[in-house]
Amino acid sequence: MRVIFLGPPGSGKGTQAKLLCERNGLVSIGTGDMLRAEIQTRTALGERARPFVESGQLVPDELVDELIAKRFRQADRPTRFILDGYPRTQPQAAALDRLLEQYSLPVTGVIVLRVPEEELIRRLASRQREDDREEEKIRTRLALFNREAAAIIAHYAPRRLLHEVQGTGGFEDVYNAIIKALKP
Ligand code: ADP
Repeated sequence: MRVIFLGPPGSGKGTQAKLLCERNGLVSIGTGDMLRAEIQTRTALGERARPFVESGQLVPDELVDELIAKRFRQADRPTRFILDGYPRTQPQAAALDRLLEQYSLPVTGVIVLRVPEEELIRRLASRQREDDREEEKIRTRLALFNREAAAIIAHYAPRRLLHEVQGTGGFEDVYNAIIKALKP
């Protein structure tokens, strides 16, 4: 399995990504975590990415593309993985295609976790994170996600790799639905 995992904030994407990795021996590749590590250790890439991450903007495509390419250039490159938080733009999706082509490791599925907006707002508003509190801010984050997701969905739809899974219900039910979609 080589999976791109999309889900709005509050959809339970983190929980499901963790289960998928643990139970199927997949490597998790998360650009948010990778960027935070680069920033923390003050690498050149981290210093260039810092202002964008700190102001909550998307980091320029070339920087995240290079971060991912770097991971795949390593001899221990993952051959079965979940991409979490990447790609987030159409050019990133195109760059990923070219990169994975080089290693003959094509994406085998794209999971889109769907949860009704009102449910997401309920879930996020009850969390502790300060930036999740206000409904207005939550709606803005969800709208941003929807715009990013639409570009990625449009990119992969023609390849018939897309699987929309309902993210409501117990986490084992959601997990089973994801597995069923990935292993028909
Ligand atoms: P969030 O879901 O809150 O955006 P992440 O941990 O996925 O959290 O990402 C944290 C930050 O890292 C983002 O706000 C953005 O600045 C940057 N980032 C992560 N992934 C990407 C990406 N694929 N393209 C551009 N910027 C990214």
